[in-house]
Amino acid sequence: MLKNLWSKLTGSRTVEQPKCVVLTRDQHSVSRKKMSNNALKVLHRLNSSGYQAFLVGGGVRDMLLGLSPKDFDIATDATPEEVAGLFKNCRLVGRRFRLAHILFGREIIEVATFRASHHDTQDNKQPSHSNKIEKSKVSAEGLLVRDNVYGSLEEDAVRRDFTINALYYCAKDFTVRDSVGGIDDLNRRQLRLIGDPVERYTEDPVRILRAIRLSAKLDLTIETKTAAPIRTMSEMLEHVSPARLWDECNKLFLAGHAHQTWHVLLDYQVAAHLFPQTTQFLKTNSDYQQFIARALKSTDKRISQQQPVTPAFLFAVFLWQALQSQTEKLQSRGFSSYDAGQKAAEKIIELQRNTIAIPKRFSIVMREIWNLQYRLHNRRKKNVDSLIQHPRFRAAYDFLCLRANEDSTLAELAKWWTDFQEVHSEKRQEMLRQVSGNSPKKKRFNRRKKYQNKTSHKNRSGQ
Ligand code: ATP
Ligand code: MG
Repeated sequence: MLKNLWSKLTGSRTVEQPKCVVLTRDQHSVSRKKMSNNALKVLHRLNSSGYQAFLVGGGVRDMLLGLSPKDFDIATDATPEEVAGLFKNCRLVGRRFRLAHILFGREIIEVATFRASHHDTQDNKQPSHSNKIEKSKVSAEGLLVRDNVYGSLEEDAVRRDFTINALYYCAKDFTVRDSVGGIDDLNRRQLRLIGDPVERYTEDPVRILRAIRLSAKLDLTIETKTAAPIRTMSEMLEHVSPARLWDECNKLFLAGHAHQTWHVLLDYQVAAHLFPQTTQFLKTNSDYQQFIARALKSTDKRISQQQPVTPAFLFAVFLWQALQSQTEKLQSRGFSSYDAGQKAAEKIIELQRNTIAIPKRFSIVMREIWNLQYRLHNRRKKNVDSLIQHPRFRAAYDFLCLRANEDSTLAELAKWWTDFQEVHSEKRQEMLRQVSGNSPKKKRFNRRKKYQNKTSHKNRSGQ
């Protein structure tokens, strides 16, 4: 049975399933001391209730690599409902992939029930009344849109993405089990998909992003056969739900390796399917490449220093050139610079949402950062006083500094704002006096006047 499953997943009858390797306590570096107590509690409760339970995924992989895991995932033979029956602090989530989340304050321990192959259901091996049929569903494009067929540990291992993510730690006997050659791949520092890469990327194109993210994060080579289809298959990402891609993008860029990840995304020509409006300008504009690279490096630095980061800032960076270009187009059609900027922002955010569902609370921040770029030129006292209090001032100032690296005409302005924040109030007054003549005329007044003219014209014509 398992052998058949393996052949199906590898797409070949000749490939032998590797034997299960069991590493005893003294043969590996997975230690309970490095584990979250909450994860251990969940493992013990499941075990003592008669279920199998293992730590799996990034938790085991990272400990074997000598790193501190970001989170802890557990695999069990208990169904999500049975898990929910054992933990009061449990929430069942996900339709495509049903999971139990056990909540301990801010920490979430993710518990997944062992999955089996969805092939059995497609081959009609299950009786037609079996509820396995609804539990697995494949879209017209071949994407696995539901994956809730439960199975054994061995079946679960081959449903996972990479061999290094299919290593199971048992808290009862402290062993690590490997039935897919993950330990060898870890030793070779390579990322290898389990099974036939084309089939596995077709089932779930997000595995392409996971390959890129994990190779950048862990400095692993993507094994040749795993890497080969990425360029041609990455357009399948366009079939993935924009909401899922929003989540994946956050993992790509907010895990401390954004700069390296972006490089790999460009190398494999994947970036164009996520950010078509960005890559369109990269080919011809090397300053913009630099601008993005600096933004990503500074995000990585902030994360390494435990400073807060927001995806809104990065999306404002990714769409900045498209905003400029669209604004110019609209201005050339007669829109005022303010109206052109607002309309352009609306349009390019909507276009980006076709691929990545930027939630409104973040698109609002992006637009604030962009709008403040214009207001930062106005150094009249009233405007400066209100800007410095603005909740997005710091993000907008950082954005201006990034732009100033590539645009020397902004260097003086950026330096002025840097100095202004550093000096005491007397010196601030002096700085304001020095530049009072340089600020643009009040455009808001002009706009209002224009609006009044328009409405009085409408009133006159009876509209
Ligand atoms: P991280 O350190 O970022 O948490 P991770 O590998 O643990 O990395 P998770 O998203 O937490 O990533 O997933 C936990 C485990 O679930 C993975 O290690 C892998 O075994 C499995 N998994 C996650 N996503 C997929 C997928 N798309 N296809 C197959 N298996 C997956
Ligand atoms: Mg994880």
